[in-house]
Amino acid sequence: MKISEKYKEKQGEGRLPKKSLSFEIFPPKKDSELKNIDETLAVLCELEPDYISVTFGAGGSANCNRTIELAKKIKYEYHVEPVVHLTCLHYDKKEIDEFAKILTDVGLQNILALRGDRNPNIPEKGDFRHASDLISYMKEKGDFCFLGACYPECHPESDDRVSEIKHLKAKVDAGAEVLLSQLFFDNKVFFRFQEDCRIADIGTPIIPGIMPVINAAQIKRMITMCGATFPTRFQKIISKYEENKEALFDAGMSYALSQIIDLLASDIDGIHLYTMNNPLVARRICEGIRNII
Ligand code: FAD
Repeated sequence: MKISEKYKEKQGEGRLPKKSLSFEIFPPKKDSELKNIDETLAVLCELEPDYISVTFGAGGSANCNRTIELAKKIKYEYHVEPVVHLTCLHYDKKEIDEFAKILTDVGLQNILALRGDRNPNIPEKGDFRHASDLISYMKEKGDFCFLGACYPECHPESDDRVSEIKHLKAKVDAGAEVLLSQLFFDNKVFFRFQEDCRIADIGTPIIPGIMPVINAAQIKRMITMCGATFPTRFQKIISKYEENKEALFDAGMSYALSQIIDLLASDIDGIHLYTMNNPLVARRICEGIRNII
């Protein structure tokens, strides 16, 4: 089923508007880790998400195969709708045609269309410069539903906020039907972004991405990579508990839950949880919102 139809169903007349719950996972790097992914999937799917998105490594066919294999597993063994992430900077039209054919042949319709990060070690092919180019091209290649990425605190390469929102509108006009956001730790940032999008006539569901923090090194890396604001309240929690694994887990879960509950109480369409393949994270968050979402 197309993810966009799920949202239309949820917003259907005469029904209580229900928020979506989705998870993001990454394919294991080694075959030996495949067993663990089954244990992870068993827990994640028991929590009845609306969909699970599967990340895609930058360039390289091995990455692509693992993403597709994992998405097939989610769909056909666990009966949950998968979303396949697909980047385009390092592929040419012929390679994207091949992806489109594989995805069609195996019945995977939902694609998170991405540009991908620049990597000096992998040449850019030049056929696709932005995610919107990928969507415009691929929509002629099959019956797909496209999701797009968005950045409440702007993409690190962005010139300014106005052009960022204009480019996002172009991505939606090209065919992105649902937007999944970059992680953030300050809800005010997301609410302002959502408002800017609505002013710019972006009417698609905009799903906030939440990453519960369970280790200090991970969070410092994420903040450097994506430039997310690190609120003082959150900094205090990290520095107080970073040496105590269990305490940091509890504190990280509580912080993420407080963000999620605040978002759910407001006008949002759902929650996308960056699970980091950790079923305990997903379970703890879901237990905290069982009667809310
Ligand atoms: P774009 O939408 O192309 O935007 C990138 C930048 O270009 C923005 O600053 C935008 O304003 C600008 N821009 C867009 N269109 C134009 C235009 N027409 N003219 C001028 N400028 C323009 N990466 C992976 O490698 N694998 C993954 O699985 C993955 N999953 C992700 C999931 C989510 C939810 C998010 C938020 C990101 C993910 N990423 C992933 C990272 C993503 O690939 C990078 O952030 C990448 O640098 C940008 O991708 P994009 O699709 O947002 O690019």
